[in-house]
Amino acid sequence: MESVFSVRMQKKKNIALIAHDNRKQDLLEWVRFNKDILLKHKLYGTGTTGGLISEKTGLDVFRFKSGPLGGDQQIGSKIVEGKIDFVIFFWDPMEAQPHDVDVKALLRIAVVYNIPIACNRSTADFLITSYLMEKDYTRQLIDYSKRIMTGK
Ligand code: PGA
Repeated sequence: MESVFSVRMQKKKNIALIAHDNRKQDLLEWVRFNKDILLKHKLYGTGTTGGLISEKTGLDVFRFKSGPLGGDQQIGSKIVEGKIDFVIFFWDPMEAQPHDVDVKALLRIAVVYNIPIACNRSTADFLITSYLMEKDYTRQLIDYSKRIMTGK
């Protein structure tokens, strides 16, 4: 059986906000609706999504590159470093993206690091209203290192 180790998530969470073009309005509405909760956390976003959210809501959003220019990969690397611990990612299920592989990589790394990730609005509603938003939380990570070392 694989062993696990713990990572502490602070009450103030580091939340990444990402939306593909056809999903940006939906994310924007969701952010507006949840602005009071989001104000308590540190927000990050891919370039265009982050810019739109800052401009339309006044929220402070640290912006990475635009998704197709590597922003999803930057967010993935911050997950690996433990600097992002929560993701709202409204990806478009009806349109292929030039950076599909980056999207897949981000979704994968979020699973590897056991990050809460909402890919649609109802999941985002359930996550943001969880009582765990107001608390520190210990994430259990599967220690895959042995499997990688033994090749099993
Ligand atoms: P964008 O990127 O916010 O720069 O549009 C989103 C994405 O496609 O990952």
